[in-house]
Amino acid sequence: MKDLVVQKYGGTSVGTVEKIKRVARRIVAQVDAGKQVVVVVSAMGDSTDELVNLAYEINPTPPSREMDVLLATGEQVSIALLAMAIQTIGYKVISLTGAQCGIKTSDVHKRARISEIDTNRLEKELNDSKIVIVAGFQGIDENHEITTLGRGGSDTSAVALAAALRADCCEIYTDVDGVYDADPRIVPDAKKIDEISYQEVLEMASLGAGVLHPRSVELAEKYGLPLVVRSSFNNNPGTVIKNFENNNEKHVIKEDFDMEKVLVRGIALDENIAKISILEVPDKPGIAFQLFSSLASANIHVDMIVQNVNRTSVNDISFTVNLDELPEAVEVSQKFAFEVNAQKVAFDQGIAKLSVIGTGIVANTEIASKFFEALFEMGINIQTISTSEIKMSCLIDKERAKEAMVNIHKKFEL
Ligand code: ASP
Ligand code: MG
Repeated sequence: MKDLVVQKYGGTSVGTVEKIKRVARRIVAQVDAGKQVVVVVSAMGDSTDELVNLAYEINPTPPSREMDVLLATGEQVSIALLAMAIQTIGYKVISLTGAQCGIKTSDVHKRARISEIDTNRLEKELNDSKIVIVAGFQGIDENHEITTLGRGGSDTSAVALAAALRADCCEIYTDVDGVYDADPRIVPDAKKIDEISYQEVLEMASLGAGVLHPRSVELAEKYGLPLVVRSSFNNNPGTVIKNFENNNEKHVIKEDFDMEKVLVRGIALDENIAKISILEVPDKPGIAFQLFSSLASANIHVDMIVQNVNRTSVNDISFTVNLDELPEAVEVSQKFAFEVNAQKVAFDQGIAKLSVIGTGIVANTEIASKFFEALFEMGINIQTISTSEIKMSCLIDKERAKEAMVNIHKKFEL
């Protein structure tokens, strides 16, 4: 059997007719090199945002089911056009929607999870020597309803397909050269990382580095599938994301090799969050359980949970959510506050989360102190701090977040 490659092209790589043609040429070059190719594409440019805006113009709370029907069309446009572009240059190709391609998901609209992929159709088309172009970000649930995987979900579609087809690796094509140690649009001297572990990139991705859909990295790690993030505009090697057998392997490349030195691998900024605070919640067992289980049943992803005791019998509980889940999260919180007789629910959209990432970070006080010192020097107030084995995050004022990112990148001499 021939080598199989799974490639994913993001919205910016297929944003115009010219770009679609260029992607088509890249794809057929793989076929000429003797490979079978499965390609996952996102919607063209900002077209998903435009669809979202249209929906909100019609209905301020658009039903999730119809949102999925709407948003899934974006990818359907790009698969058809890309297939036509490939056909024009004389190669066998077929486009498939998520449903046609056998991508089965849970029934949670707007953030469905892939449960399995029935690869029969895909294999049939590949055996027929066709290039297969698959619509990213979408699937179908048990009741044949169209579902989408959450914004940015095409990466996850690509990794899931690569895993299901047992490909050797999955290539994610984007408009930058790979994963950077800070967002290059904000930090001018951000540097590209050559190789990085799943865990580190996962922190970068979920902390808003914007490189990959976090679920795609989780999935790749689960299947031990190496990911390559690279530009669709040049032939640079990109960033390889994989498992390091020996955790220090990646550090050895450094000249001033110091065995147990903790390395800050990157700085991430997430401006797409909001903080919800529930004030004066009765201080008794089961309260947190009640709140977070209702948020979980509403499929709302929460982060940075803080509970502080400020009076004898009541606490304030606050946490962050993704900006696009804020309205639902506030609704669930208000219902909870009413039930337990809390004082009120407040929310703040003017915050951002800034994080430093690197293996072993939490045990290293020098990193924490440098991080806090940099914020202090800028006179930036820290609202919340949280840490994990490999990251340290602060919630700060959104207005100053980009500036803070630039300075912290400098401070750590990245
Ligand atoms: N088109 C979808 C979005 O913009 C999915 C993706 O780009 O991966 O979120
Ligand atoms: Mg996109």
